[in-house]
Amino acid sequence: MTAPGKVCIVGAGPGDPELITVRGLTRLRRADAVFYDRLVPAELLAEAPTHARRIYVGKEPDTPSVAQEEITAMLITWARDGLDVVRLKGGDPFVFGRGGEEALALAEAGVPFEVVPGVTSAVAVPAAAGIPVSHRDHGATIAIAAAHRAGDTSLPWSSLAGIDTLVLLMGAARVADVCRNLLAAGKDPDTPAAAVQWGTTPHQRELHATLADLPARFAEAGITSPAVIVVGGVAALASLIGSWAPAHVGVPEDAG
Ligand code: SAH
Repeated sequence: MTAPGKVCIVGAGPGDPELITVRGLTRLRRADAVFYDRLVPAELLAEAPTHARRIYVGKEPDTPSVAQEEITAMLITWARDGLDVVRLKGGDPFVFGRGGEEALALAEAGVPFEVVPGVTSAVAVPAAAGIPVSHRDHGATIAIAAAHRAGDTSLPWSSLAGIDTLVLLMGAARVADVCRNLLAAGKDPDTPAAAVQWGTTPHQRELHATLADLPARFAEAGITSPAVIVVGGVAALASLIGSWAPAHVGVPEDAG
């Protein structure tokens, strides 16, 4: 009988390949198969052994992709075949990454699995742009919201408007809805806001605005997914803390 394999759900970090955890890298280096997502840094795939199969199961915004049930079914089958399977996900697997759904399916199937946390973009991407998600002078509440459905009523806008630091993921195509809903819920139009695209990578771009003018500035700059949007007083600290991240050392690629 084949020795049972295992699935390891690993957070790959926000984009810079150095931001995976030591444990995540260890698991990757002994994988027989790696199922990976769209935002996983390519350099990390090279860390898997040569014999390891690399299977792309990413979801592009607004385009069809491998169904979630198919992904979980493959993880289960391959682990039952005795393979060490790594499920590599951008950021942290349990922060809007469907890692919870996959872990649940594995638990139900009785397949041994492990979860290795990752550095989430919700915290690391603002940090890479000089924005600390919390600061004692700027309140004591942080919320992370999925903004891909910001146009409908699925988000509790009046509660979100009362949060000191609001971090919005998957919001690049919905920035106008986000700002409109927050303003309608009573958020001060002068609240500092920022958007960071491709944070922690050499392609990082940042935009600073107020809640009122973020949509226009965002469209002007042509920022697209992946981007993190931050709304709150901390967004203004970027001008003081500065852009210390490695992405900013040297001349940016597109600096003319
Ligand atoms: N599990 C991931 C989030 C998955 S949702 C995590 O913990 O980071 C995908 C969203 O994350 C994107 O739409 C974008 O909002 C954000 N994101 C991930 N990587 C990013 C990056 N390098 N720069 C900016 N936003 C990023």
